[in-house]
Amino acid sequence: MRTAEIRQRWLDYFTSNGHELRPSVSLISPDPSILFTIAGMVPFIPYITGEEKAPWPRAVSVQKCLRTNDIDNVGHTTRHGTFFQMNGNFSFGDYFKEGAIGYAWDLLTGSQNEGKYGLDGDRLWVTIWDEDVESFDILTKEIGLEPAHIVRLPRSENFWDTGQPGPAGPCCEWHYDRGPSYGPSAQGGNVDPGGDRYLELWNLVFDQYMRGPGEGKNYPLLHELDHKSIDTGAGLERIAFVLQDKPNMFEIDEVRPVITEVEEMTGRRYGSDTEADVRMRVVADHVRSSMMLISDGVRPGNDGRGYVLRRLIRRAVRSMRLLGLDEATMPQLFPVSRDAMAPSYPELVSQWSSIADVAYGEEDAFRRTLESGTSIFDTAVKKAKESHNSVLPGDAAFSLHDTYGFPIDLTLEMAAEKGVSVDQERFRALMNEQKERARADSRAKKAGHVDASVYHKLADSIGGQSNFIGYDRVEDEATIA
Ligand code: ATP
Ligand code: MG
Ligand code: MG
Ligand code: MG
Repeated sequence: MRTAEIRQRWLDYFTSNGHELRPSVSLISPDPSILFTIAGMVPFIPYITGEEKAPWPRAVSVQKCLRTNDIDNVGHTTRHGTFFQMNGNFSFGDYFKEGAIGYAWDLLTGSQNEGKYGLDGDRLWVTIWDEDVESFDILTKEIGLEPAHIVRLPRSENFWDTGQPGPAGPCCEWHYDRGPSYGPSAQGGNVDPGGDRYLELWNLVFDQYMRGPGEGKNYPLLHELDHKSIDTGAGLERIAFVLQDKPNMFEIDEVRPVITEVEEMTGRRYGSDTEADVRMRVVADHVRSSMMLISDGVRPGNDGRGYVLRRLIRRAVRSMRLLGLDEATMPQLFPVSRDAMAPSYPELVSQWSSIADVAYGEEDAFRRTLESGTSIFDTAVKKAKESHNSVLPGDAAFSLHDTYGFPIDLTLEMAAEKGVSVDQERFRALMNEQKERARADSRAKKAGHVDASVYHKLADSIGGQSNFIGYDRVEDEATIA
C-alpha cells in the first residue's frame, strides 16, 4: 500500500466517523514559542488547554512535522526522520478513552478491503499508565487484547502534561511487534518503548486531569476535567514501512527513490556497507526535510529555523562527498524527492523553481566554504607533518570550524585520511569558551531569542517523554553542521 493511500485511508476513516478534516499547517509552528511544528496537536493546543472553544467536536489531520532532536537518530534507527508526517485524530470534549481505543484497534486491524490497515492484532502491544484501570478494562474486555500484551508504565514514562498547571493525562501507546529478527521477545518482560522490534506506531493521549503545580512528573492531580480531550499521533512513515514490509522508514515509496538515485550516482549498492547505508539514509532524509522546509518558506540563515535548514542541506552535501561525490549533487537529488512527495504535496511542483534556487544556491555556498577551508586544512596538515608532529592543533580545527564553517567531523575524517590526528581536547576547550561567550552574549541581548525552556515543556507534552532538546546553534555546531 503506497504511503499516499495510507494517508488517504486515515483521513477517510476519521471523516466517515464524524471528524472535521483539517489541513496540515506549516512546518513553521503556529505556536510562536516553538520553531517547528513537532506534532499534530500543535495547531490544536488552545482547544486542548481550554483557552479557546473548538469549532468542531472532532478533527482529523495528517500533519507535516519536523523534529531536530531526532537528527542523530536519522539513518541509525529504523524509525526516526527529521521530517515526518503525523496522522492524528482529536476529540475536544467529545469521545474519550473508549472511542479512541476503539478507533485505533479498528483502523489498525480492520480489513484492508474495508479501507483499513489489516495489521495482525496478535502482534500489537500496548503500553498504559499503571493506574489507568479504565484503559486496561477497555483493552481486555472490549477489544479482547491479551493482558500479556499490555505493559503498565509509571507516570514518569507514560503521562502527558504541558509542564504547568493545566490539563494532563495518561498515554496509551500502540506498538507493532516486527518479529525476532529485530530483537528479543518481550514475553514475560517489558516492551522496550524505544526499540526497533516493538515499533511505536501510535500514541493516544487522554486529557483527563487538572494538574497542580510541581516540577517534573511530581505534581498532584487535582481533579478530573469536565472537558476531556483526546490527542493522538501516529507516524505515517512507520505505518508505511510496516505495511510495505520494509526494514525502515527510509525504504518506503516516498523516501527510497532518493537512495536509488544516490546508488546510481555513486556506483555503490545500498545494503553492501553499513556506514555508506547510514549516509544514504541521511541524504534521503535531509533532502526531503530541507525541501519541505523551503516549501514552507524557510530560507537558509545563521540562526533559528534558517540555521536548521542550512545544516540539513550541509549534512546532505557532506554525506554525498563522503560517499565519493565532490561535485554538486542536490540538482539531481531534489527532483527525485519532489516526484516522490508531489502526489500528497502538489505545491512542491508549483513552487519548484524557487525551492530549487534556494537549495542549489545553498549547496554552492557550502561547496565554496569547503573549498576555502580545504586549502587552510591542507596547509595545517603540511605544517603538522613538517614539524614531525602528526597532530593537527586544536586551534587549527577550531579556526576551520569557526571561520570557514568546517564541521569537526569533516576535519576528523580528512585528517585521518592524511594519517594525522586532531587535538580534540583543545578543540573542545575552545568550543566551550566560545559557547560561554555566546551565552553571555545572548543573556545580554535577550530579545528576539526563543526561550529554550519552552521546547522542553512542549517536549513533555508529546507522549509524556521528554527528549526534545530544541536546537542550540552553538552547542550543536560541532556535531551537526
Ligand atoms: P519514539 O519513542 O519512537 O522516539 P516518540 O514517543 O518520541 O517516538 P511521539 O512524540 O509519541 O513519538 O509522537 C507520536 C508518533 O509520531 C509516534 O508514535 C511515531 O509514530 C511518530 N514519530 C515520532 N517521532 C518520529 C520521527 N522522528 N520520525 C518518524 N515518526 C515519528
Ligand atoms: Mg516513544
Ligand atoms: Mg510516543
Ligand atoms: Mg522520540
